Amino acid sequence: MKCKKCNSGKVEDSAPIKTNLCPRCFVEHYIARVKKTVEEFKMFSEKNRVGVAVSGGKDSAALLHVLKKAYPNTKFIALHINLGIPEYSEHCQEKVEALTDLLGIELFVYDLEKELGIKITDFEKTLFKKKICSVCGTIKRRLLEEMAVKAKVEVLATGHNLEDVLSVMFNNFLHGRWDQLVRLKPVLPPLTEEMALKIKPLLRISENENLYYCLCEKIPFREKSCPFSIVLEQKSREIIETIAKYNPNFKYYLLNRFLEIARILESKHKPILTKCENCGFPSTNKICAFCKRISLVKSRNWDEI
Ligand code: SF4
Ligand code: ZN
Repeated sequence: MKCKKCNSGKVEDSAPIKTNLCPRCFVEHYIARVKKTVEEFKMFSEKNRVGVAVSGGKDSAALLHVLKKAYPNTKFIALHINLGIPEYSEHCQEKVEALTDLLGIELFVYDLEKELGIKITDFEKTLFKKKICSVCGTIKRRLLEEMAVKAKVEVLATGHNLEDVLSVMFNNFLHGRWDQLVRLKPVLPPLTEEMALKIKPLLRISENENLYYCLCEKIPFREKSCPFSIVLEQKSREIIETIAKYNPNFKYYLLNRFLEIARILESKHKPILTKCENCGFPSTNKICAFCKRISLVKSRNWDEI
């Protein structure tokens, strides 16, 4: 089939998405959509220093690549956390290094084992043994905030895709967890003056579009799966996918409604922050979630944080 846009390129039958565009026109269209999201939500200006969280996976690899292509004059810094998961973490770091070398982007790596003396696998001996992803998420969120401050970036971009955002929003909506629904907004203000604004430039892009962009642009990304990997919010994902089969625009409608709800709820659900008594980081509790989890695997001097 000929490309609908240029009428000369060939549409790839093997593409992981339904498309009537050839690879070159798909890439142009993808870049334009990401730019539209960045501009619609005023995520950053070309003069900002922007940190990009890169895990080695397809979403964050596509994010770093597309931002660099769309905004060649902006200073991007890649931030990667080595989680100390045997074989998997080394593989991820190699892919991130290959990508940042390719793009000529500075890379900051935080090695959990070297810097904090723990590995994600240590949590297998704790009450989190069946919820490693949950504890891993808490640790990554916190360390990225710290890395953003050290790297002196004003903005921190993450590769959350359309399905990630929708499934978590849907679940929070069903359970009435309004404060958590608000936290999924495309732009989150910094917790303190010196911290970074957090943005999700891929929230309107599906995971298979990110995959196809990586394949079209020959972007290095990990081929191995994390041994702890589980599909988060699986039921919500299945419900959304089932409806989307009947209405291809359903995901975009749902996202737009959730964004409206988040805007309405925002003023009522502002977190009341104090400082964690152990580490001084902004927290809604006396001891922050990060410190609580780390204390399960390490007795530590809290002043180190
Ligand atoms: Fe962490 Fe879970 Fe992702 Fe593995 S799959 S890196 S444990 S969040
Ligand atoms: Zn703390």
